[in-house]
Amino acid sequence: MKTPTQINAIDFDSAKLQRLGFGQPSPLVARSVNLSQLRQQLGQQLQTSLEPQRILGLFFREVQRLVPLDALIYRHSPSDLRLELGQRGHHTLTYNLSHEGEYLGELVFRRNQRFTETEQADLESVLSTLLFPLRNALLYRAATQSALRDPLTGTGNRIAMDQTLIREVDMAKRHLQPLSLLMLDIDHFKRVNDSHGHGIGDEVLKGVAEAIKNQLRNVDMVFRFGGEEFLILLSNTSRDAAALVGERLRHAAQAQDYFAAGTRIELTVSLGCATLLPGESVESLLRRADNALYVAKREGRNRLAMAG
Ligand code: GH3
Ligand code: MG
Ligand code: MG
Repeated sequence: MKTPTQINAIDFDSAKLQRLGFGQPSPLVARSVNLSQLRQQLGQQLQTSLEPQRILGLFFREVQRLVPLDALIYRHSPSDLRLELGQRGHHTLTYNLSHEGEYLGELVFRRNQRFTETEQADLESVLSTLLFPLRNALLYRAATQSALRDPLTGTGNRIAMDQTLIREVDMAKRHLQPLSLLMLDIDHFKRVNDSHGHGIGDEVLKGVAEAIKNQLRNVDMVFRFGGEEFLILLSNTSRDAAALVGERLRHAAQAQDYFAAGTRIELTVSLGCATLLPGESVESLLRRADNALYVAKREGRNRLAMAG
């Protein structure tokens, strides 16, 4: 089925400032007190964070007070950023964000009901509140990226992992939301190195990281844990949902193409999954995921094991 698509470009420099409410009083603002209230509120709230996912999460939540949405998708390829909030809808509204020639990413609103002209104008109006917070977050991200990333695979390194784990466990406890963890390890990876050399081994590692990232909504939650192990944090994800994600990752890693001298290498991965228990520490959660991974290996590899 063909999905109706509306594509728009927003260049904040040349965007009609009047329409965004910066010029003469906009008829939109006069019509809707809510719109201006929301813009004012977002203008303050979005400044409180330098994390793109938090900024967009807040934006997604608050904007729905004005325009109901099913999903918000954000992509910024230069910094390997892809975020998806909510469930997919049939109708899409796409904006390419830029400021002074600087590309700030692509934002897609989705929902099952068609967007009206008014809603579109409202969304465009509140979009302007994203501009500076998003630009700052991207700058900050670029500055910290090299310190927090594994150079080979582009996934988070141990420093990033430790920080994110502490933060997410804390958030899960505070908001009484489930948090799950997947520990993924390549099966018989030593054989890849032994048969094809370390260089091909490195390429395979990159391929596995790519396969994982392509399956996830938030690529900031993937970390290289050890040599050929990856840790995936699934916020607001229950045990059952995490098991589904784990199986998806297992299939994706197996389906990914890895080549050595023109020949495809068969590769599988094993996973351990643990879901945060009430009052549990980061260390204990990690230990349980690791134990589950050990069970998956012992039971024959190419499988997912759930922590007890
Ligand atoms: P298992 O199924 O039990 O996990 O077997 P395995 O061979 O994958 O596990 P093992 O822990 O014995 O070996 C992991 C290998 O990963 C050993 C090491 O040489 C290799 N390795 C670790 N880091 C890197 C890396 O950055 N690049 C490459 N090419 N190899 C790496
Ligand atoms: Mg290992
Ligand atoms: Mg291994």
